Amino acid sequence: MKRRTFLLGTASGFSVLALAACVTPQPVPSPSVAPSTLTPSLVPQPLAVSRTNWSTDPFSRGSFSYAAVGATPEHRAALAQAVDARVFFAGEATAADEPGTVQGARASGLLAASQVQDVAAPGERITIVGAGIAGITAARQLVDDGFNVVVIEARDRIGGRIDTVSGDWPFPIERGPSFVHGTAENFLDDELTALGVRLLPFPRTPEVRTRAGAVVEVSPLGPQAVAGALGWAANQQQDVSVERALIDSGEASLSKTPNAEGLSDADWLEYEIATKLKIESGATPSQQSAWYTTDIASTDDDHIVIGGYSTLLTSDAEGLEVLLSSVVNRVAHDDRGVSLRLGTGESLSADRVIVTVPLGVLKNAAIEFSPALPFTHRGAIAALGMGVVDKIWLQFDEPFWDTAARLWTIVGEDADFPVWVNMMPLTGEPILMGMIAAENAARLSELQDDEFLSAALAALEPFLAVADAG
Ligand SMILES: Cc1cc2nc3c(=O)[nH]c(=O)nc-3n(C[C@H](O)[C@H](O)[C@H](O)COP(=O)(O)OP(=O)(O)OC[C@H]3O[C@@H](n4cnc5c(N)ncnc54)[C@H](O)[C@@H]3O)c2cc1C
Repeated sequence: MKRRTFLLGTASGFSVLALAACVTPQPVPSPSVAPSTLTPSLVPQPLAVSRTNWSTDPFSRGSFSYAAVGATPEHRAALAQAVDARVFFAGEATAADEPGTVQGARASGLLAASQVQDVAAPGERITIVGAGIAGITAARQLVDDGFNVVVIEARDRIGGRIDTVSGDWPFPIERGPSFVHGTAENFLDDELTALGVRLLPFPRTPEVRTRAGAVVEVSPLGPQAVAGALGWAANQQQDVSVERALIDSGEASLSKTPNAEGLSDADWLEYEIATKLKIESGATPSQQSAWYTTDIASTDDDHIVIGGYSTLLTSDAEGLEVLLSSVVNRVAHDDRGVSLRLGTGESLSADRVIVTVPLGVLKNAAIEFSPALPFTHRGAIAALGMGVVDKIWLQFDEPFWDTAARLWTIVGEDADFPVWVNMMPLTGEPILMGMIAAENAARLSELQDDEFLSAALAALEPFLAVADAG
């Protein structure tokens, strides 16, 4: 499996090994918080806040798919199989290469479109469920090939998990993906540049601080332990969790004795887990497959998008027939065609359908399939995991920090927000983007906006400029 590397790398959690808490579905909270409701903190109150809650979003039910224990790349291939040449599937979870990414989702849309082209007669009516990058890409391909295409989208906008917000922010902020991972096969950075979208190189070299605010050198102990555990797991008869691999391989047996800075060897494994494994997958080490979790140590060519990721969809969506605010809740097919039922009770018929809804929506059985999906599809939906990564964007009137580092991380505690991106050196604006993942994200997803903000501000205290901290 190719890895997703939009930030740091992979790892797993230790004192944080509890499974993600159950989350009660609730409406997506308002992205804004009124300043009057904010709880005082050493960190100044922000001027503007935008918070995501992807796990409770009914049209996503999580952030992106990950390799759960026991899941294999074959499960993704099984999910990508067409059913009776009528019902096709696309979306990041079905991607053979780079699942969980924008480029993986787009490739899956192209593949599904080509599968349809192979079996459909010219001019057939094709319905696509979901106007994310997979759905829009497939639709563009099929329209250009002369098919009669309609895209049905539950939200009142296109883009899905690509969720760019402009509004009052000094530059467009990204509530979904921010990063483009440069690989030999991925030219998204060139494409975005050609579209006039600003993106900047984003070397993944973090500044690491202790809770007390001391800047420390990253230790290699964390990546070494994870690499050792994954290497051990590769030689086992069956897949185990990353957590189990760390324990049973002995790699987790690190000293807990603090040094002069108050950090132990075990803290560096925790750090690797919190800032890499959990952020990359949205899952705990106890949930992640040791066979298909990849340790990332290479010098990756990442870029951060600061000029609007959603521009990627704009030209492809031009002229497409898209029905917004239309939730599909049933997909039926027989040998004559497909019939879709909307939440409003209306029905639509077509010759074929491409379903691009997120894995989390399929797991939640929000769409009824008739006849029921084949066992291989249901097995894949159950086996693959849907991880959770949430973001908080904070705009300040002036920086309270004095570091010019772009990537901030915290060692020595199970910080809810262990990773921050400092947009100041990138944009000149005192804006920070925090990330929270896995069980921490699930737990905080239940908080009100003001409590969520308080947790984020508390996590930022190590970055207070020394004069302010005193
Ligand atoms: C917080 C976060 C950070 C991320 N960071 C990165 C990153 O830095 N780099 C990267 O490459 N990737 C990143 N990703 C992953 C990336 O965003 C996704 O892999 C990609 O956007 C998925 O595209 P998609 O078309 O498969 O799915 P989606 O974009 O989710 O599209 C599916 C569409 O189906 C619609 N839908 C759902 N249910 C129904 C229904 N019942 N009826 C009709 N429509 C429905 C949804 O509203 C949605 O528009 C991130 C994701 C998140 C959430």
